Amino acid sequence: MVKMKSADSLAVLEAEIPACVACPRLVEYRERIAAEKRGAFADWNYWGKPIAGFGDGAGRIWIIGLAPAAHGANRTGRVFTGDRSGDFLFAALHRCGLANQPQSVKVGDGLELRDCFISAAVRCAPPDNKPLPSEEANCSGYLDREWELLERKRVILALGAIAWKATISLASRHGYCERATPFAHGATVQLSDRLTLIGSYHVSQQNTFTGRLTPAMFDTILRQCLRISTTTPPRRRSDQTKPAIRVAELR
Ligand code: SF4
Repeated sequence: MVKMKSADSLAVLEAEIPACVACPRLVEYRERIAAEKRGAFADWNYWGKPIAGFGDGAGRIWIIGLAPAAHGANRTGRVFTGDRSGDFLFAALHRCGLANQPQSVKVGDGLELRDCFISAAVRCAPPDNKPLPSEEANCSGYLDREWELLERKRVILALGAIAWKATISLASRHGYCERATPFAHGATVQLSDRLTLIGSYHVSQQNTFTGRLTPAMFDTILRQCLRISTTTPPRRRSDQTKPAIRVAELR
């Protein structure tokens, strides 16, 4: 069973995560990228540290991505902020009423999420967007703590296969998932009668520029999340030990 810190909070996590140096390869990479910069962002003071979660801590929808982009969140200091993936994601969240504006440019740009919290399986930008299994394991404790702190969650939306696998593992550690289910766009796992996992192709350029993931496809996924989150009754404390009850595929 996962052991939580006493008096934990999202604010504690937000203060703690940026100081993490548990993965030497990622520490070197995030700091080197921040020092070298990309030409278009030469006047930026890159964040160059791990990225905490962002959004509505009382939200019913929890979106879990892969990891910060080297010149996106690793530059701006906020998850999915300042890159094409974020452009796609936040425009969609805005269309569905989960964000107050369609753009996410930098910290302090006025963006607010409603009923929705976003974090990532790995909190540091990895080379080629590919974290090592050991780095995913090192970072999993932050997901464990968010799992406990996001008490109103009804739907977890995992973006891409790595986030999906991390979420299956997360749910399993917390007694909610009995067996691994393969990732697929639209795949659904009913983790309990009050918590559902949904998978989507990641909102990366690789998918959105090629048409593998279109705005219409992602809107359908978000609407599914909204429908489930607003029709699922509140979670009880006793649900903490409930195992998975069924696995289904969305049509
Ligand atoms: S990936 Fe996670 S565990 Fe590793 S250094 Fe970054 S924040 Fe720490």
